[in-house]
Amino acid sequence: MSLIRCENVSIGYEGQTVVKDLNFQIDAGDYLCIVGENGSGKSTLVKSLLGLKTVEKGRIIFGDGLMQNEIGYLPQQTDFQKDFPASVYEVVLSGRLNSRGIRPFYTSSDKKTACEKMDMLGILELSRQCFRDLSGGQKQRVLLARALCATKTLLLLDEPVTGLDPIVTAEFYELIRKINKESGIAVVMVSHDIESAVKYATHILHLQEKALFFGTAEDYQKSRVGRAFLGGGADD
Ligand code: ADP
Repeated sequence: MSLIRCENVSIGYEGQTVVKDLNFQIDAGDYLCIVGENGSGKSTLVKSLLGLKTVEKGRIIFGDGLMQNEIGYLPQQTDFQKDFPASVYEVVLSGRLNSRGIRPFYTSSDKKTACEKMDMLGILELSRQCFRDLSGGQKQRVLLARALCATKTLLLLDEPVTGLDPIVTAEFYELIRKINKESGIAVVMVSHDIESAVKYATHILHLQEKALFFGTAEDYQKSRVGRAFLGGGADD
């Protein structure tokens, strides 16, 4: 059974459908990149995967032990987040909020998890620093640690390298690959960067209202859509 299966999913705003008849699935350990131009419906799909937006048609089915509130989500950067007046530790710990339920406090296990994830991502020594004072790359590591606090199964990353310089971007991609390979956590990443998507991901979903392509990254590189968007040119 898949972690997430989308069956004939259409999503829209006030009667205007922006994502149409989508069929794809994410299995344990997969690394799926969702690519497509601006306005192709990537963020809309992300909202529905998170349960923040209902679908017009079709079904999103969660399985293989994954519940919708157990997705570790790293949102697209907003100015609000950049200036968030909290310590690194508080930001990471807030990843436990969803699993806290109605408890009004964090448990010692929540705190231990937060420290473990900071250690894993090499940011333990930043824990007392103010989030807004960090560099862009450090902020993304903090938000990644926060997302890892929320899941054992699936990370959902929306344009996580936007604004990062090429070296920090490469380090971030390597980090995601390591987490995916070593912890077996499935990754779903929305990305503009198709070259990196085919380098790192196991699967590609190329959106343009409909799915132009869904399949393995290897097959995507051979496909007409993949060749056209990767700059090789489609010759048939
Ligand atoms: P992407 O993430 O690929 O850039 P989006 O999912 O943000 O694409 O947008 C897909 C389409 O839905 C666009 O045409 C956009 O204008 C429209 N859209 C996005 N959010 C809203 C909204 N809150 N209300 C109405 N239309 C929206």
